[in-house]
Amino acid sequence: MTERKPWETKEFQEAKKLALEDGKIKDRCEWCGSTNKLTPHHKISFKAYMLRNFRKVSIISMSEEMNFTFPPCALTKSGGFSTSKGYIKVGKLGAYMRDHPELKEKTKELALKDYYAFDFVQTLCFRCHFVKSKYRRNLCPRCKKKWFRPSKYNFEGVCWKCNDDIEDERDDFDVEEEKKQAEIEGDIDEMVRNLSEPKTPMGTPMKWGKSWG
Ligand SMILES: [Zn+2]
Ligand SMILES: [Zn+2]
Ligand SMILES: [Zn+2]
Repeated sequence: MTERKPWETKEFQEAKKLALEDGKIKDRCEWCGSTNKLTPHHKISFKAYMLRNFRKVSIISMSEEMNFTFPPCALTKSGGFSTSKGYIKVGKLGAYMRDHPELKEKTKELALKDYYAFDFVQTLCFRCHFVKSKYRRNLCPRCKKKWFRPSKYNFEGVCWKCNDDIEDERDDFDVEEEKKQAEIEGDIDEMVRNLSEPKTPMGTPMKWGKSWG
């Protein structure tokens, strides 16, 4: 008997319907706005939910068996964790998890609950989803035409074409700004020159604090 995948079940279809009603699944592509063949995509895989929950279930079971308490963050962080009976290394937790495969049922129950909650989903159309999964690229939010690879070096989060455009705009702005700076400095010079030879139309020195504009 082959087990059904979490996304092949009736429960999944029902949960999906609810998520649509709740707006967790969008009614158009988050990138291009298309409504054509939308494919809501879990950002956290079922496998990742399984791992998270297996840790959770194991630590709780371990704490009951060994009679210790632990801070809540132990369930969500990775690696070892401290307890009322001392620090537990990640290796020891791993061994416990391996020795207790029977906890997998409970884990699966929780993971399915998380998965069917549709809390971390991205709604893309079939085109955007295709490019994302095959080429790992996002649609450029600026031109909405080209695709870019998200990376920590891509500060603008746009395609390379748009990156160039933004840089050109910045250059143009720099040129304009430099002209403006020259104008401002010239104006200051002139203002200072006028100050040092304060003259009123009558030829008498102008007093500080009076308007001379
Ligand atoms: Zn799209
Ligand atoms: Zn997908
Ligand atoms: Zn672009």
